[in-house]
Amino acid sequence: MHCPLCSHTVISHYHRDKVRDYWQCNRCQLVFVNAQQRLSPEAEKAIYDLHQNSHTDAGYIRFLSRFAEPLKQRLSPGSKGLDYGCGPAPVLAEMLSTSGFPTVGYDPFYQPALPAGTFDFVCCTEAIEHFYQPGKVFEHWLGLMNPCAVLGIMTKRVMNKERFANWHYKNDQTHVCFFSEATFSWVAAHYSLRLEIAGPDVVFLYRDKV
Ligand SMILES: [Zn+2]
Ligand SMILES: [Zn+2]
Repeated sequence: MHCPLCSHTVISHYHRDKVRDYWQCNRCQLVFVNAQQRLSPEAEKAIYDLHQNSHTDAGYIRFLSRFAEPLKQRLSPGSKGLDYGCGPAPVLAEMLSTSGFPTVGYDPFYQPALPAGTFDFVCCTEAIEHFYQPGKVFEHWLGLMNPCAVLGIMTKRVMNKERFANWHYKNDQTHVCFFSEATFSWVAAHYSLRLEIAGPDVVFLYRDKV
């Protein structure tokens, strides 16, 4: 077994619940579910389809605002963005576009054509915890980011083993990797990005001009 973020092979058992085992990388601290215990892509898609309706309600828009508002404050006027893992409805892309930050979406299930070009910001809300190969995704993002681009990520963070045991977030069978502050710090150091912890489930990673 190796870590799906940093490829390290020193892995410790982290937690077991009725359904799955969770493992932790000794280097980047990512907590993850290994391949044998993940759902099939078809089973995942069926779960995502069930949640489609909730994507246009007011609660969801309010939820996304907790990410979109701080992001907007950090962008230069007219910045162009990519919403990676946008899901079935381009809600965040529309919120940002109407605020003057033209944003396009990509989603492996619902919008599989990756828009061309590079971007001033990339955002990923409530999606990174679903990725099987987050290391590959970070590398992909870096290739899509302009100099000085911002990467914004919304995902709930692992606090400690005790809290993890009772954490509803892990019970979603489509969630397969769980980041903590330590893991984001590893990402920042590894990819030479500057990390800002902006809220309990929001981080920004900056590619500063050198
Ligand atoms: Zn790792
Ligand atoms: Zn999720």
